[in-house]
Amino acid sequence: MSLHRLHRLHPETRTVHQHVPLPAGSKPLGVPIYQGHVFSFDDADQMAAAFQDPDAAFLYSRLGNPTVRALEDAVAGLEGGTAGLAFASGMGAINAVLLGVLSSGDHVIAQRCLYGGTYAVLNDLAQRWGVEVTYVSGDDPAEVREALRPRTRLLYLETIVNPTTQVADLPALIGEVATHGVTSVVDNTFASPMLCRPLEHGADIVVHSATKYLGGHADVLGGVAVFRSAELHRRIRDHAVEQGASADPFAAWLTLRGMQTLALRMERQCANALTLAERLAAHPGVSRVRYPALPGHPDHATARRLLAAGGGVLAFEPAGGREAGRTFIEAVRVASLSPSLGDVKTLVMHPASTSHRQLDAGALAAAGIGEGTVRLAVGIEHPDDLWADIEQALAKVA
Ligand code: PLP
Repeated sequence: MSLHRLHRLHPETRTVHQHVPLPAGSKPLGVPIYQGHVFSFDDADQMAAAFQDPDAAFLYSRLGNPTVRALEDAVAGLEGGTAGLAFASGMGAINAVLLGVLSSGDHVIAQRCLYGGTYAVLNDLAQRWGVEVTYVSGDDPAEVREALRPRTRLLYLETIVNPTTQVADLPALIGEVATHGVTSVVDNTFASPMLCRPLEHGADIVVHSATKYLGGHADVLGGVAVFRSAELHRRIRDHAVEQGASADPFAAWLTLRGMQTLALRMERQCANALTLAERLAAHPGVSRVRYPALPGHPDHATARRLLAAGGGVLAFEPAGGREAGRTFIEAVRVASLSPSLGDVKTLVMHPASTSHRQLDAGALAAAGIGEGTVRLAVGIEHPDDLWADIEQALAKVA
């Protein structure tokens, strides 16, 4: 309503019907927060068109919102996709993609060491919805070839795996299913589009927990899926709108704000992680270090081919097993004992007693995780402060 018309109404009505100024002659420098969940129309036909086609106009924020769209466009652009969809969390994105692609009786090929939440969804789909899942190591394209069945619909991989930092050979693994009508999905959370763009390696869909590197400041939950084709985007969007895990505009805005420094943060986090990995590898109190940019890493050659840098996460084993790992994580003072990653602050955790607690010693070993393995999600602090902290914590372990 125009200001002129508003001023002729009673105060009770005017307090409700506030004027919405639309900028003219200038525009906001940053993305505005369109927090409203619903939009209004001047024209009944336009509103009817928006019901018919979600791209015709913004209608209702579960179906689309300008702030959320800005995030979808930003991540889709970085990943080199046609379009994106933003969600309330990474798990929201993963669920929308899995449930949007799969039907009962379908078959999935998935990497064995997936993020626990993804593994739980696949288990649930297998137990309650008749979806069959074959797990593969992610190291061997032949395993993928042998796992293929007529009902295989989806291949699910992660660029860098938690906490072993395994690097999946995306083009080789995806290449095995590319001509079989299989949708390839890659969780690119650990690499971010700064280090790897899985669509360039044949993936059809990329998913992110935006909670991690994209947001970057431990203050927002979010997820994004990016699609190679408009058809896939449309299909998953129709389903996602029904599921309802849409991103909140303020969360999308926080993620966009964080993303402005993504390139700088990633550069510093990777440089810090490499410095720490090299120093840890030379420390007498450390029996093993896993970091893709170290020449001794099992996937070093793949990492050099696919990743622009080694990433912000490394895993290492203080000599002394489980107790040593637990002592270390309680002894750090600059790093924080916390289960997330991608934050500007350095975070440590002990997978065997937390994220991977359900695995016994044998299963941990098979997954490449030691009883004492410490995961370090490196932040942007000064590397010497981080190293001094690690050294003093290692001294307590010895
Ligand atoms: N994917 C990966 C690789 C993760 O590490 C996580 C969370 O840690 C998720 C997905 C789920 O993300 P969210 O916690 O935002 O739902």
